[in-house]
Amino acid sequence: MLVVMKAQATPEQVRAVCEKVEKLGYKAHPMPGAQRTAIGITGNTGTVEPGTIEEMPGVGEVIHVSKPYKLVSRDVKEDQTIITFPRQGNCEEATIGGAELGIIAGPCGIESREQALAIGERVARSGAKFFRGGAYKPRTSPYSFQGMGVDGLKIMAEVRDRFGLRIVTEAVDSESLFHVEQYADVIQIGARNMQNFSLLKRAGRSKKPVLLKRGMSATLEEFLMAAEYIMSEGNYNVILCERGVRTFADHTRNTLDLSIIPAVQRLSHLPILVDPSHGTGKRNKVTPMARAAVAAGADGLIIEVHHDPDKALSDGNQSIYPDQLDALMSECRQIATILKRKVAKPLPAKSNEREIAAAR
Ligand code: PEP
Ligand code: MN
Repeated sequence: MLVVMKAQATPEQVRAVCEKVEKLGYKAHPMPGAQRTAIGITGNTGTVEPGTIEEMPGVGEVIHVSKPYKLVSRDVKEDQTIITFPRQGNCEEATIGGAELGIIAGPCGIESREQALAIGERVARSGAKFFRGGAYKPRTSPYSFQGMGVDGLKIMAEVRDRFGLRIVTEAVDSESLFHVEQYADVIQIGARNMQNFSLLKRAGRSKKPVLLKRGMSATLEEFLMAAEYIMSEGNYNVILCERGVRTFADHTRNTLDLSIIPAVQRLSHLPILVDPSHGTGKRNKVTPMARAAVAAGADGLIIEVHHDPDKALSDGNQSIYPDQLDALMSECRQIATILKRKVAKPLPAKSNEREIAAAR
């Protein structure tokens, strides 16, 4: 159910409707838009009796939403969601979902302070504003590198302070999420956990934005329903991410499904990023698919980068070199202009660490 307020409705009228909805035993999700506010109603098993709400001051109409996903849907919120990260410390303001593409780059996993700082510096120089790195790694084998845990998070916090980069890192369960939300700017939920509903609900109770990766065999509807789980708990800052799905094709690790970009954009207001690193699994395919993702209208990219990928403890084969990141950024910058979007400029080559942070 969706309550569409009149354009001239006052904040008090919006609040009164939310209170009424809550009194009826449901949850109210006010979604302010450019023209008017819509209030999503969840927690109802059947149809909500619209009568009493329809008559309240400021209410335009009460609509029954027939799709299984509601809060993620454009029916509830027509305007594109732009997630804003306000200026803070050495980090300048950044957005995901706006005109500037959100570029996230960094190693698969945080392996040491030296590794993270070396890569972090190059990521900042490339113009990217977000640094990725796993401190908790969901590995296929229990004997593979599992991540550095809280020590890895602390290293990433240092990368943020030194280079003015926002931190994106994965939580694999509610215990790691507790630590991740204290250090990170964006909580990543990985493909393997896309349908871990208790983890999704826990992320929905966090104050930090959530990057939700598509499960490796998830349909579009399952993907959107996973985002709905997060939003239903009150966290509306959800970023979707296509990272490839399993198919019969074996020339790549996964098959990157770029057609999901326009499909998502038709149905949902949430931003969608593309991960061409896990989507292909091969270094030589990362840049071409990054270019294609930008051309297809992605709101940004998440890229694995390593200065010494042969020695990487995970995903070295798909990690590009820092010089390749610079080239990728430059190419995507040019493609983005066709779509009236932007990729942030690289920092001057000679700038030192303090200047890199100051440029942010
Ligand atoms: C990752 O980003 O390092 C990762 C494990 O991704 P995915 O969940 O898409 O496999
Ligand atoms: Mn990886």
